[in-house]
Amino acid sequence: AKQNVKSVIQFYSEDLKDSSRKRIEMESALREAIEKKQFELYLQPVLNLSSENITQAEALIRWYRPDLGMVSPAEFIPIAEQTGLIIKIGKWVIEESIRLLSELHRQGKYIKLSINLSPSQVNDRSLLDFIRCTLKESGLNAKYLELELTEGVLVDDFDKVSDFLQEIRKMGVSVAIDDFGTGYSSLSYLQKLPIDYLKIDQSFVFNLMEHESNQAIVKAIIAMATSLKLEVIAEGVEKEEQKAFLKAHGCHFLQGYLFSRPLTYDDFRKLL
Ligand code: C2E
Ligand code: CA
Ligand code: CA
Ligand code: CA
Repeated sequence: AKQNVKSVIQFYSEDLKDSSRKRIEMESALREAIEKKQFELYLQPVLNLSSENITQAEALIRWYRPDLGMVSPAEFIPIAEQTGLIIKIGKWVIEESIRLLSELHRQGKYIKLSINLSPSQVNDRSLLDFIRCTLKESGLNAKYLELELTEGVLVDDFDKVSDFLQEIRKMGVSVAIDDFGTGYSSLSYLQKLPIDYLKIDQSFVFNLMEHESNQAIVKAIIAMATSLKLEVIAEGVEKEEQKAFLKAHGCHFLQGYLFSRPLTYDDFRKLL
Protein backbone atom coordinates (compact mmCIF):
# COMPACT_ATOMS: atom_id res chain seq x y z
CA ALA A 1 0.00 0.00 0.00
CA LYS A 2 2.85 2.32 0.93
CA GLN A 3 4.41 1.74 -2.47
CA ASN A 4 1.12 2.62 -4.08
CA VAL A 5 0.69 5.87 -2.19
CA LYS A 6 4.22 6.87 -3.07
CA SER A 7 3.74 6.28 -6.76
CA VAL A 8 0.45 8.10 -6.74
CA ILE A 9 2.10 11.10 -5.11
CA GLN A 10 4.98 10.93 -7.53
CA PHE A 11 2.63 10.70 -10.46
CA TYR A 12 0.57 13.57 -9.14
CA SER A 13 3.54 15.86 -8.59
CA GLU A 14 4.94 15.03 -12.04
CA ASP A 15 1.56 16.04 -13.35
CA LEU A 16 1.62 19.29 -11.39
CA LYS A 17 5.15 20.02 -12.57
CA ASP A 18 4.03 19.41 -16.11
CA SER A 19 1.06 21.70 -15.89
CA SER A 20 2.94 24.47 -14.11
CA ARG A 21 5.75 24.21 -16.66
CA LYS A 22 3.15 24.47 -19.39
CA ARG A 23 1.68 27.54 -17.71
CA ILE A 24 5.03 29.28 -17.34
CA GLU A 25 5.79 28.52 -20.99
CA MET A 26 2.42 29.84 -22.05
CA GLU A 27 2.87 32.97 -19.96
CA SER A 28 6.15 33.97 -21.60
CA ALA A 29 4.79 33.11 -25.03
CA LEU A 30 1.77 35.31 -24.26
CA ARG A 31 4.00 38.24 -23.31
CA GLU A 32 5.77 37.85 -26.63
CA ALA A 33 2.44 37.58 -28.44
CA ILE A 34 1.34 40.92 -26.98
CA GLU A 35 4.53 42.63 -28.17
CA LYS A 36 4.50 41.02 -31.61
CA LYS A 37 0.74 41.41 -32.04
CA GLN A 38 0.06 37.77 -32.81
CA PHE A 39 -3.65 38.10 -32.13
CA GLU A 40 -6.53 38.45 -34.51
CA LEU A 41 -10.22 39.10 -33.95
CA TYR A 42 -12.74 36.83 -35.62
CA LEU A 43 -16.29 38.08 -35.93
CA GLN A 44 -19.26 35.80 -35.47
CA PRO A 45 -22.44 37.22 -37.00
CA VAL A 46 -25.58 37.44 -34.87
CA LEU A 47 -28.83 37.02 -36.77
CA ASN A 48 -31.85 39.16 -35.99
CA LEU A 49 -34.70 36.64 -35.95
CA SER A 50 -37.46 39.07 -36.89
CA SER A 51 -35.71 40.69 -39.87
CA GLU A 52 -33.37 37.77 -40.74
CA ASN A 53 -30.64 40.43 -41.05
CA ILE A 54 -27.19 40.60 -39.49
CA THR A 55 -27.30 43.60 -37.19
CA GLN A 56 -24.49 42.64 -34.87
CA ALA A 57 -21.50 40.38 -34.29
CA GLU A 58 -19.32 39.10 -31.45
CA ALA A 59 -15.56 39.67 -31.46
CA LEU A 60 -13.67 36.46 -30.57
CA ILE A 61 -9.92 36.52 -30.13
CA ARG A 62 -7.55 34.14 -31.92
CA TRP A 63 -3.88 33.59 -31.21
CA TYR A 64 -1.55 32.26 -33.90
CA ARG A 65 1.60 30.93 -32.28
CA PRO A 66 4.39 30.77 -34.85
CA ASP A 67 5.60 27.52 -33.28
CA LEU A 68 2.28 25.80 -32.52
CA GLY A 69 -0.37 27.30 -34.75
CA MET A 70 -3.79 28.34 -33.49
CA VAL A 71 -4.32 28.36 -29.72
CA SER A 72 -7.93 28.46 -28.57
CA PRO A 73 -9.01 31.33 -26.31
CA ALA A 74 -10.46 28.69 -23.99
CA GLU A 75 -6.84 27.68 -23.37
CA PHE A 76 -5.04 31.01 -23.09
CA ILE A 77 -7.67 33.44 -21.70
CA PRO A 78 -7.71 31.66 -18.28
CA ILE A 79 -3.89 31.97 -18.10
CA ALA A 80 -4.05 35.58 -19.23
CA GLU A 81 -6.51 36.17 -16.37
CA GLN A 82 -4.36 34.44 -13.74
CA THR A 83 -1.24 36.36 -14.78
CA GLY A 84 -2.86 39.76 -15.21
CA LEU A 85 -1.92 39.80 -18.90
CA ILE A 86 -5.62 40.00 -19.73
CA ILE A 87 -5.50 43.74 -19.01
CA LYS A 88 -3.19 44.39 -21.96
CA ILE A 89 -4.82 41.81 -24.19
CA GLY A 90 -8.25 43.22 -23.32
CA LYS A 91 -7.18 46.71 -24.28
CA TRP A 92 -5.93 45.43 -27.61
CA VAL A 93 -9.32 43.72 -28.15
CA ILE A 94 -11.14 47.00 -27.46
CA GLU A 95 -8.89 49.05 -29.77
CA GLU A 96 -9.03 46.49 -32.53
CA SER A 97 -12.83 46.09 -32.24
CA ILE A 98 -13.33 49.83 -32.50
CA ARG A 99 -10.92 50.00 -35.45
CA LEU A 100 -12.76 47.23 -37.34
CA LEU A 101 -16.15 48.76 -36.52
CA SER A 102 -15.05 52.16 -37.77
CA GLU A 103 -13.81 50.59 -40.98
CA LEU A 104 -17.14 48.84 -41.51
CA HIS A 105 -19.05 52.03 -40.80
CA ARG A 106 -16.94 53.95 -43.34
CA GLN A 107 -18.21 51.42 -45.87
CA GLY A 108 -21.80 52.13 -44.84
CA LYS A 109 -22.12 48.83 -42.94
CA TYR A 110 -23.67 49.88 -39.61
CA ILE A 111 -23.05 46.83 -37.49
CA LYS A 112 -22.93 46.58 -33.72
CA LEU A 113 -20.03 44.66 -32.16
CA SER A 114 -19.85 42.97 -28.77
CA ILE A 115 -16.64 42.39 -26.83
CA ASN A 116 -16.01 39.86 -24.04
CA LEU A 117 -14.74 41.33 -20.77
CA SER A 118 -12.96 39.29 -18.11
CA PRO A 119 -13.79 39.89 -14.44
CA SER A 120 -10.41 41.50 -13.72
CA GLN A 121 -11.00 44.03 -16.49
CA VAL A 122 -14.11 45.22 -14.66
CA ASN A 123 -11.95 45.78 -11.59
CA ASP A 124 -9.39 47.78 -13.57
CA ARG A 125 -10.02 51.42 -12.75
CA SER A 126 -8.39 52.65 -15.96
CA LEU A 127 -10.71 50.69 -18.22
CA LEU A 128 -13.58 53.19 -18.33
CA ASP A 129 -11.31 56.03 -19.40
CA PHE A 130 -9.63 53.77 -21.91
CA ILE A 131 -12.96 52.91 -23.55
CA ARG A 132 -14.06 56.55 -23.45
CA CYS A 133 -10.83 57.81 -25.07
CA THR A 134 -10.66 55.08 -27.70
CA LEU A 135 -14.26 55.75 -28.69
CA LYS A 136 -13.68 59.48 -28.81
CA GLU A 137 -10.57 59.20 -30.97
CA SER A 138 -12.37 56.93 -33.42
CA GLY A 139 -15.43 59.15 -33.69
CA LEU A 140 -17.56 55.98 -33.51
CA ASN A 141 -21.06 56.28 -32.05
CA ALA A 142 -20.93 54.38 -28.72
CA LYS A 143 -24.27 52.73 -29.35
CA TYR A 144 -22.52 50.34 -31.76
CA LEU A 145 -20.40 48.90 -28.97
CA GLU A 146 -21.56 46.22 -26.54
CA LEU A 147 -19.77 44.60 -23.61
CA GLU A 148 -20.36 40.99 -22.54
CA LEU A 149 -19.97 40.09 -18.87
CA THR A 150 -20.63 36.75 -17.23
CA GLU A 151 -22.83 36.46 -14.15
CA GLY A 152 -19.73 35.60 -12.13
CA VAL A 153 -18.70 39.24 -12.31
CA LEU A 154 -21.94 40.34 -10.68
CA VAL A 155 -21.53 38.33 -7.50
CA ASP A 156 -18.04 39.72 -6.89
CA ASP A 157 -18.72 43.19 -5.55
CA PHE A 158 -22.17 44.35 -6.47
CA ASP A 159 -21.67 48.05 -5.75
CA LYS A 160 -18.47 48.20 -7.76
CA VAL A 161 -20.03 46.40 -10.72
CA SER A 162 -23.08 48.61 -10.47
CA ASP A 163 -20.95 51.79 -10.61
CA PHE A 164 -19.00 50.36 -13.53
CA LEU A 165 -22.16 49.55 -15.48
CA GLN A 166 -23.75 52.94 -14.76
CA GLU A 167 -20.68 54.60 -16.29
CA ILE A 168 -20.87 52.28 -19.30
CA ARG A 169 -24.54 53.17 -19.73
CA LYS A 170 -23.71 56.91 -19.52
CA MET A 171 -21.26 56.47 -22.40
CA GLY A 172 -24.02 54.92 -24.47
CA VAL A 173 -22.39 51.47 -24.68
CA SER A 174 -24.68 48.41 -24.28
CA VAL A 175 -24.27 45.52 -21.87
CA ALA A 176 -24.98 41.82 -22.34
CA ILE A 177 -24.94 39.05 -19.74
CA ASP A 178 -23.00 36.17 -21.29
CA ASP A 179 -23.54 32.45 -20.53
CA PHE A 180 -26.81 33.39 -18.85
CA GLY A 181 -28.32 30.65 -16.70
CA THR A 182 -25.05 29.08 -15.57
CA GLY A 183 -24.12 31.47 -12.77
CA TYR A 184 -25.16 31.26 -9.16
CA SER A 185 -26.13 34.87 -8.67
CA SER A 186 -29.58 35.95 -7.61
CA LEU A 187 -31.76 37.21 -10.42
CA SER A 188 -32.56 40.45 -8.64
CA TYR A 189 -29.60 42.11 -10.34
CA LEU A 190 -31.54 42.05 -13.60
CA GLN A 191 -33.80 44.87 -12.44
CA LYS A 192 -31.08 46.75 -10.54
CA LEU A 193 -28.42 46.97 -13.24
CA PRO A 194 -28.46 48.65 -16.65
CA ILE A 195 -28.47 45.54 -18.86
CA ASP A 196 -29.62 45.32 -22.46
CA TYR A 197 -29.18 41.68 -23.55
CA LEU A 198 -29.19 38.19 -22.09
CA LYS A 199 -27.19 35.58 -23.96
CA ILE A 200 -28.63 32.13 -23.25
CA ASP A 201 -25.79 29.72 -22.54
CA GLN A 202 -24.96 27.17 -25.20
CA SER A 203 -25.47 24.28 -22.79
CA PHE A 204 -29.24 24.87 -22.88
CA VAL A 205 -29.27 25.13 -26.67
CA PHE A 206 -27.10 22.14 -27.66
CA ASN A 207 -29.67 19.57 -26.44
CA LEU A 208 -32.69 21.78 -26.77
CA MET A 209 -34.76 19.31 -28.77
CA GLU A 210 -33.65 16.24 -26.77
CA HIS A 211 -34.41 17.58 -23.29
CA GLU A 212 -37.75 19.07 -22.34
CA SER A 213 -36.13 20.62 -19.29
CA ASN A 214 -33.90 22.71 -21.56
CA GLN A 215 -36.97 23.81 -23.50
CA ALA A 216 -38.62 24.88 -20.25
CA ILE A 217 -35.54 26.85 -19.18
CA VAL A 218 -35.16 28.57 -22.54
CA LYS A 219 -38.86 29.52 -22.62
CA ALA A 220 -38.65 30.88 -19.09
CA ILE A 221 -35.55 32.96 -19.85
CA ILE A 222 -37.19 34.48 -22.94
CA ALA A 223 -40.42 35.23 -21.08
CA MET A 224 -38.62 36.79 -18.14
CA ALA A 225 -36.30 38.85 -20.35
CA THR A 226 -39.16 40.09 -22.47
CA SER A 227 -41.14 41.29 -19.47
CA LEU A 228 -38.02 43.05 -18.16
CA LYS A 229 -37.56 44.64 -21.63
CA LEU A 230 -34.29 42.86 -22.26
CA GLU A 231 -33.42 41.26 -25.58
CA VAL A 232 -32.37 37.64 -25.81
CA ILE A 233 -29.56 36.15 -27.88
CA ALA A 234 -29.38 32.35 -28.13
CA GLU A 235 -25.85 31.01 -28.59
CA GLY A 236 -24.61 27.72 -29.99
CA VAL A 237 -27.49 27.21 -32.41
CA GLU A 238 -26.48 24.42 -34.78
CA LYS A 239 -29.78 22.95 -35.98
CA GLU A 240 -32.82 24.19 -37.89
CA GLU A 241 -35.20 22.75 -35.28
CA GLN A 242 -33.46 24.77 -32.56
CA LYS A 243 -33.83 27.94 -34.61
CA ALA A 244 -37.53 27.22 -35.24
CA PHE A 245 -38.13 26.61 -31.53
CA LEU A 246 -36.33 29.82 -30.52
CA LYS A 247 -38.16 31.89 -33.11
CA ALA A 248 -41.54 30.45 -32.15
CA HIS A 249 -40.93 31.36 -28.51
CA GLY A 250 -39.95 34.95 -29.19
CA CYS A 251 -36.16 34.85 -28.99
CA HIS A 252 -34.78 37.99 -30.63
CA PHE A 253 -31.33 36.99 -31.89
CA LEU A 254 -29.47 33.85 -32.83
CA GLN A 255 -25.78 33.04 -32.95
CA GLY A 256 -24.26 29.72 -33.94
CA TYR A 257 -22.71 27.45 -36.53
CA LEU A 258 -26.10 26.92 -38.19
CA PHE A 259 -25.90 30.47 -39.47
CA SER A 260 -22.14 31.09 -39.38
CA ARG A 261 -18.90 30.24 -37.62
CA PRO A 262 -16.70 33.10 -36.42
CA LEU A 263 -15.18 34.68 -39.55
CA THR A 264 -12.10 36.70 -40.42
CA TYR A 265 -12.79 40.40 -40.86
CA ASP A 266 -12.60 40.04 -44.65
CA ASP A 267 -15.03 37.13 -44.80
CA PHE A 268 -17.39 38.89 -42.42
CA ARG A 269 -17.34 42.04 -44.55
CA LYS A 270 -18.16 40.02 -47.66
CA LEU A 271 -21.11 38.42 -45.90
CA LEU A 272 -22.76 41.79 -45.23
P1 C2E B 1 -18.06 32.76 -25.30
O1 C2E B 1 -17.97 34.22 -25.07
O2 C2E B 1 -19.17 32.04 -24.64
O3 C2E B 1 -18.10 32.61 -26.89
C1 C2E B 1 -18.82 31.62 -27.58
C2 C2E B 1 -17.92 30.48 -28.03
O4 C2E B 1 -18.72 29.48 -28.66
C3 C2E B 1 -16.88 30.86 -29.08
O5 C2E B 1 -15.75 30.04 -28.88
C4 C2E B 1 -17.58 30.51 -30.39
O6 C2E B 1 -16.68 30.29 -31.45
C5 C2E B 1 -18.29 29.25 -29.99
N1 C2E B 1 -19.49 28.98 -30.79
C6 C2E B 1 -20.30 29.86 -31.41
N2 C2E B 1 -21.33 29.24 -32.02
C7 C2E B 1 -21.17 27.91 -31.79
C8 C2E B 1 -21.92 26.74 -32.18
O7 C2E B 1 -22.94 26.79 -32.86
N3 C2E B 1 -21.44 25.55 -31.72
C9 C2E B 1 -20.31 25.44 -30.97
N4 C2E B 1 -19.91 24.23 -30.59
N5 C2E B 1 -19.59 26.53 -30.58
C10 C2E B 1 -20.02 27.75 -30.99
P2 C2E B 1 -14.27 30.61 -28.87
O8 C2E B 1 -14.12 31.64 -29.95
O9 C2E B 1 -13.35 29.44 -28.87
O10 C2E B 1 -14.16 31.36 -27.47
C11 C2E B 1 -14.22 30.66 -26.26
C12 C2E B 1 -14.34 31.59 -25.09
O11 C2E B 1 -13.14 32.38 -24.93
C13 C2E B 1 -15.46 32.62 -25.22
O12 C2E B 1 -16.69 32.03 -24.87
C14 C2E B 1 -15.00 33.68 -24.23
O13 C2E B 1 -15.34 33.32 -22.91
C15 C2E B 1 -13.50 33.62 -24.38
N6 C2E B 1 -13.06 34.73 -25.27
C16 C2E B 1 -13.00 34.77 -26.63
N7 C2E B 1 -12.54 35.97 -27.06
C17 C2E B 1 -12.31 36.70 -25.94
C18 C2E B 1 -11.83 38.04 -25.70
O14 C2E B 1 -11.54 38.82 -26.63
N8 C2E B 1 -11.72 38.44 -24.39
C19 C2E B 1 -12.05 37.62 -23.35
N9 C2E B 1 -11.91 38.09 -22.10
N10 C2E B 1 -12.51 36.38 -23.54
C20 C2E B 1 -12.64 35.93 -24.80
CA1 CA C 1 -19.31 35.91 -25.25
CA1 CA D 1 -21.28 32.64 -24.14
CA1 CA E 1 -18.47 30.77 -22.26
